[in-house]
Amino acid sequence: MAPGVRAGLGTDSLNPDRFFDSDPAIRSVARALYEETRALPIVSPHGHVDARLLAENAPFPEPTSLIVQPDHYILRLLYANGVQLDALLNGDPRHVWQVFAEHYYLFRGTPTGAWLDHELHEVFGVRERLSADTAARVYDAIRERLQSPEFRPRALFERFNIEVLATTDAASDMLEHHCAIRESGWKGRVIPTFRPDALFRIASRGWAGALDALGRADGEPVRDYLGFVRALADRRAYFKSLGATATDHAVLEPYTGALEGEEAERLFHQACQGEVTPADERRFTAHLLMEMARLSLEDGLTMQIHPGSLRDHNRLVSERFGPDRGGDIPVATEFTRNLRPLLNAYGNDPRLTLVVFTLDESTYSRELAPLAGHYPAMRLGPPWWFFDSMEGMRRFREQTTETAGIYKTAGFNDDTRAFCSIPARHDLARRIDANYLAGLVARHVIDENDARPMARALAYDLAKQTYHL
Ligand SMILES: [Zn+2]
Repeated sequence: MAPGVRAGLGTDSLNPDRFFDSDPAIRSVARALYEETRALPIVSPHGHVDARLLAENAPFPEPTSLIVQPDHYILRLLYANGVQLDALLNGDPRHVWQVFAEHYYLFRGTPTGAWLDHELHEVFGVRERLSADTAARVYDAIRERLQSPEFRPRALFERFNIEVLATTDAASDMLEHHCAIRESGWKGRVIPTFRPDALFRIASRGWAGALDALGRADGEPVRDYLGFVRALADRRAYFKSLGATATDHAVLEPYTGALEGEEAERLFHQACQGEVTPADERRFTAHLLMEMARLSLEDGLTMQIHPGSLRDHNRLVSERFGPDRGGDIPVATEFTRNLRPLLNAYGNDPRLTLVVFTLDESTYSRELAPLAGHYPAMRLGPPWWFFDSMEGMRRFREQTTETAGIYKTAGFNDDTRAFCSIPARHDLARRIDANYLAGLVARHVIDENDARPMARALAYDLAKQTYHL
């Protein structure tokens, strides 16, 4: 095989044309478009990196706790292939790395494999295939690099060319790490995102604790529904004072609807007594989403709705290892009827930005593109979780562009907990979008003069606009 030709997963080199179409007419345009977006700064308006990393700026201790253990994409596929989670999460780091390397072949053909290849090669300069035989050597090489100043979190943030990084934070979070970053004088822009989900789940065991925490954060206990909404508004203002530009709401279904009269107050008091059902919670959440849209119109925070994930599907795993361990599975989702009350109340106002995500790909062309292609307030969130993949991103563009155009989409979100995977994820998205546009150019749907600003919009401008960054 010729030098420079990609030889498979974990290879010692990355093919410069990776993920582009094999048709030379498309590939050459894709290459040119990608070349124009490749070096643009990274705008990361939605993710789950811990702000503490950048506040403390301590060296990462070793490769396993940096690359393997925080990445639920990696953990779930290892677990699905029979590797014990306990061993992965609690084992000796060097041994866990060996197990990871022995199972690296499992990621062939997956975006996780593409991200890992990029990360090992571009971020850590690894120039040999990761395998059982090379595991120890690669581990030592990365560990050594992590000790040097260039691999401290802030240095990597700068090298990754991150213009802004948003974290995701609970409503009662005091955001001390965000404060510390600001006070440190370091110029990196790390902003919080207001995610009050725990307060919406009035039928869950954790609700009373979340309500107490909200009261403590706000300075006085929350005693009634009006006080509850006031406290939420106060917390939004606090987040905004530390740079937040968005809220995020994970719900099982995007059901919205205002409660009549005293109903919200009544449900709130019942919840305080521990006397609410899941059906009550569903109505209360629907009402709170309306309230969040109303508050977004007032304070200008972009509102994100992330429906359609059945959390903790695997009882055994979630009871033993807690949330985010790969037991979250998509469910079919209905948007057209569920979002109608919210869109009728607020969707005609272009001052509101509502970003709607889905884990149900069948809704792209049937529901989401028509809704975003009509309501001024609504935008389509990028494909996420199982679908920010090579084929997933292509399907999204193919099924939404003709109805909504690209300018009612939100650019790319990396949505990652794995800090060092950020550049890999953005690079893959830029390649896929460049390739999609190149296909349109090759068929003369658009020409290259159209495609160039479109590629830039997808890689950079749309995320900035959508999230007011
Ligand atoms: Zn997320």
